[in-house]
Amino acid sequence: MPHRKNFILNRLSADDLNRISPDLSVVQLAHGEVLAETHARVEKVYFPHSGIIACVVETIGGGAIETAMIGNDGVFGGTQALDGKVSLNHVVMQVAGAASVISSDRAREVADNLPGLRDLLVNYEQFFLGQVQQTAACNALHTVQARMCKWLLRMHELVGSDIPLTQEFLAQMLGVRRTSVTGVASELQKAGMISYARGLIHIIDVDLIRQWACECEADVRAHYRRVFHSNESNT
Ligand SMILES: [Zn+2]
Repeated sequence: MPHRKNFILNRLSADDLNRISPDLSVVQLAHGEVLAETHARVEKVYFPHSGIIACVVETIGGGAIETAMIGNDGVFGGTQALDGKVSLNHVVMQVAGAASVISSDRAREVADNLPGLRDLLVNYEQFFLGQVQQTAACNALHTVQARMCKWLLRMHELVGSDIPLTQEFLAQMLGVRRTSVTGVASELQKAGMISYARGLIHIIDVDLIRQWACECEADVRAHYRRVFHSNESNT
């Protein structure tokens, strides 16, 4: 059952997953693919198996900053589907991957008859709101170096040691100038934590990155475990 590669779907009972399976399809999503535009209706619900979905707030002046990442432990579009709401952010594939997908209309119909699914979507929304609030505090209070280390930790957790991203993209996600990212990346490189070749960040010493990171990633993971009553070490 490929849908169990997503930890939200994997929490469904076998009966519930069998009932939703005919409406789910598995799709490949490329880096940069847009899943929803700001203020547009969310047409599909995505349950990632791999890769990363980024939720990005865009400002009128052309700036942008990432407020949340969704990996195989999450879902995008769940609660918007339940009540026909629009997307609050620009939502884009940060790292290519696969996902189980269902149309929002069908998801709403199915969830009306499957309380187990509805509960999971609502619980994830509660976690997601906590993640966004933590990110707001982090962006205001923590240094670019600590934030970049936090970001690398989450990326490492979701995609492993080789992260296929440019420094331009990283600067945009962190909401800082490219020169700030270059400066911090070179400090991390000198400390033996990462190596960097064009378009690819390789993580060498994840324990050292954890030491330099702010506490926000650990706080967000603890929040996830509280919401889902989970002891899973990789979620
Ligand atoms: Zn922080």
